[in-house]
Amino acid sequence: MTLVRRLSEEAERARDELCALTVRLVRIPTVNPPGEHYQDAAELLGRELAKNGYTVSFHPAIDRPEHTPKHPRVNVIGRLGDCVHPAVHLNGHLDVVPAGEGWTVEPFAGEVRDAKLYGRGTADMKAGLAAAVLAVEVARRAGLRLRGSVEISGTVDEESGGQAGVAWLCEQGIIRKDRVDHVIIPEPLNPDRICVGHRGVYWFKVTAHGRVAHGSMPFLGVSAIDQLAHLVERIRTELQPTLLGRTTKMPVVPDGARHATLNVNSISGGQAGREPQTPCVADRAEAIFDRRFLLEEGFDAAKAEIEELLARAQAEAPTRRYTLEDLLTFHPVQTPEGSPLVAALDRAIAGVYGRPASLVASPGTYDHKHFARLGGIEHCVAYGPGTLELAHQPDEHVRVDDLVRATAVMALALVELGVFGA
Ligand SMILES: [Zn+2]
Repeated sequence: MTLVRRLSEEAERARDELCALTVRLVRIPTVNPPGEHYQDAAELLGRELAKNGYTVSFHPAIDRPEHTPKHPRVNVIGRLGDCVHPAVHLNGHLDVVPAGEGWTVEPFAGEVRDAKLYGRGTADMKAGLAAAVLAVEVARRAGLRLRGSVEISGTVDEESGGQAGVAWLCEQGIIRKDRVDHVIIPEPLNPDRICVGHRGVYWFKVTAHGRVAHGSMPFLGVSAIDQLAHLVERIRTELQPTLLGRTTKMPVVPDGARHATLNVNSISGGQAGREPQTPCVADRAEAIFDRRFLLEEGFDAAKAEIEELLARAQAEAPTRRYTLEDLLTFHPVQTPEGSPLVAALDRAIAGVYGRPASLVASPGTYDHKHFARLGGIEHCVAYGPGTLELAHQPDEHVRVDDLVRATAVMALALVELGVFGA
């Protein structure tokens, strides 16, 4: 029997275990923000790994401000094979976004219906974590021997930037490149696709400053709201078309996200939401923007372009004044061309699916950036069960067939990478 067949059959036999582990994880509502029940989820995963023979350690991000007695940030890592190379690290985030409205099933029950497993965090990405755990067991059950080593981690706060999760573990040297050759993050990117990176993120706030006056004589003041509206309109008519004209070479999906983009996240000013209102010209208004920049653009140019637009608008009218504040920056990352990790997964997908894999890049961002930039581990991809479009949606679910097949692909990739062998 071929290796693909053996691993596929073992993955099929693990179907119930895959569902059961996913369901147990989904039933712990690790909602972030604020970051609830991380300890319970980390302990569940830790127990599972210990049962399978891993050396398990827990890593609370003790010096991070978001690590509080009420919401402790607990990460877990299991190690198998004591750092013998080749070493593969499989990482999944433990957190899920809030359930939100519009569900037709209980979001944290883990209900199976029509061979689909429903619940917040099924696709993004507790099924992926279950697939990582079981992929290793599938390889062992198929009679293969561990030739290298495996690390499996469950980490916190990916949905809010990952600073107390993967970033912290990399900064502390707990995840590091001398002991890890390859990283697979089983995020839901469709199980026949390999995700090789993401665009950059630049969040910034622009504050428009005006001059207060009596609302019955607005001509005596300067409305910060008008100034901000002017800026938003110029962004829409001048900057947006320019951004739309820029296309990255990275295979970002969907197509619309292959361009540079800019979203206005929020806008506020004057006496918004406060009762009762007083008759005043607004002297302050602010907006938060989410600029997604391309590898080819780079952060410095993306920021300079905003500064330049602000400077131009101010130069045209002496009463106009803006200040710019950086809120968050993540640089784009891309797995190197010719990465052996991509090649191994590519062969594994072709083996299991009988068709070539497609390479994609994420429209958003995920923990890849921390592994690459802070951990120095360049051979990193996202590959896992679940479809991208269902992440963060009501009635989020993962097809059980996808879960089984992605597990087989991951097991086969571990063999292709030399972690398991005859
Ligand atoms: Zn995710």
